[in-house]
Amino acid sequence: MPKDFLHSPLRFARLGILLALPAFGVVAAFGTAQDGELLLPGTATVEPLSIDVEATLVPAPALFVREDRFLRGDTPAGLLSRLGVNSDDIQSLLRSRTAPLRSLRAGMSVTAEVSAEGALLSLSYVSGKDSIVTLTREGEGFASTESRARFEAHTTLKSGTIRSSLFAAADAAGLPDSVAIQMAEIFGGDIDFHRDLRKNDRFSVVYEMLYLDGRAARAGRVLAAEFVNAGKSFRAVWHSGADGKGGYYAPDGKNLRKAFLRSPLEFSRVSSGFGLRMHPIMQQWRAHRGVDYAAPTGTRVRAVSDGTVDFAARQGGYGNMVVIKHQGQFSTAYAHLSAFAPGLRKGARVSQGDVIGFVGQTGWATGPHLHYEFRVAGEPRNPLAVVLPAAEPLGAQELAAFRALAAPLAAQLDLLATTNLAALE
Ligand SMILES: [Zn+2]
Repeated sequence: MPKDFLHSPLRFARLGILLALPAFGVVAAFGTAQDGELLLPGTATVEPLSIDVEATLVPAPALFVREDRFLRGDTPAGLLSRLGVNSDDIQSLLRSRTAPLRSLRAGMSVTAEVSAEGALLSLSYVSGKDSIVTLTREGEGFASTESRARFEAHTTLKSGTIRSSLFAAADAAGLPDSVAIQMAEIFGGDIDFHRDLRKNDRFSVVYEMLYLDGRAARAGRVLAAEFVNAGKSFRAVWHSGADGKGGYYAPDGKNLRKAFLRSPLEFSRVSSGFGLRMHPIMQQWRAHRGVDYAAPTGTRVRAVSDGTVDFAARQGGYGNMVVIKHQGQFSTAYAHLSAFAPGLRKGARVSQGDVIGFVGQTGWATGPHLHYEFRVAGEPRNPLAVVLPAAEPLGAQELAAFRALAAPLAAQLDLLATTNLAALE
């Protein structure tokens, strides 16, 4: 298990890229095109290393493993580009007579091995029922095979420390994207992963890894996780209830699901890079009674709580704006959107986490960002200062069963936390 950031092969890969290029401007451009993660000037920190001779002779990175979901309204070209595949290979794949991406459907998770230059080496996804489609490079083209998938679940433990972003830490720890995203969702009622992350925040996570023919195919569900944010520890353990539905609870049985999400932005590799560059939330809030999230145009904006759409139209300096009425006196507003979610109109019901629109810069905005307002009885309030209702904790009957299940997982988290701390010293 690569606990230590400096010993991760990906870390060397990144360093290789950074050292080989002459200027940060080039690094930024390369980084963006290469793997979709924005390496902005100043955020690409090169730490002092005690480099031994062997390490400096390590050749340029062989490959990156990327995982992403095919989304509703997505195109194969869009997905391939997010996976870091270069345009030549995208074109040759789309022209390919075997049409290997035909069975791709919304929600399917695709794993790709991509070289540092963006050449696609292999790609696989589970299509339909228990069938895995694998695409491998063969000369100038690609060969595709289909086989029966027999998954075997293994519990995996990983831990990491935030240096620049959650995904950089996930890469360093060898953690799949889907697990990083699950963590952001699990703790999304307590931590705003776009604004609250701090350098040296750390995480430990126990999750299922699904194997196909002895090879890791994709990550499954997170079983337990700990996230230490600004010195405060949050823990979560998965519990599947008697009704077949499950959820995440703190070890004492408190429900981690909150009535409101802390961030209205969907957490993704692309949106995550902006998190650490923000100013303290209070200053900004006082200035204009809202919270601004810098994010690339098109980033998905989510309803932070269940409610009814009260407004979805253009309004002066706000540009395209959505206002949602929630329970009680609460309402939320989302402004400068580039577009509304299809079918969204006044009177529509939305659930927490539903996509309602996309980041843009309509109205009075100097760059793409989301202006978010949290209102109580129509008056903007600082979302951090408002006490919000929490979801139901586990009942007494379920609590006993949960505790029995949670204890060994909590012990694993304890062990990981200690190991992780030792690695930092
Ligand atoms: Zn604003």
